[in-house]
Amino acid sequence: MSELTAWRTMSDSEQEQKIQQIQGQHSTHTCSQCGQPAYCEISAGKETCWCFELTKRDTSGIPSGTCLCRHCLEKLPLL
Ligand SMILES: [Zn+2]
Repeated sequence: MSELTAWRTMSDSEQEQKIQQIQGQHSTHTCSQCGQPAYCEISAGKETCWCFELTKRDTSGIPSGTCLCRHCLEKLPLL
């Protein structure tokens, strides 16, 4: 829900950038789970990341310091 609200307040260029991030056209690293391009906003110099907006997942099986792509993060069990 919060992501949808944020979406409506975004400018066209921000929306376009977001789509490119989701599609992997913008990437900062490779997902350690699936090897697909993933985007971390922290790595890109921002203070927060899109993953903060997701419901908290159980990342105990993931080595610390590695970011997953949206797809893999959403597949993790909820805490
Ligand atoms: Zn992945």
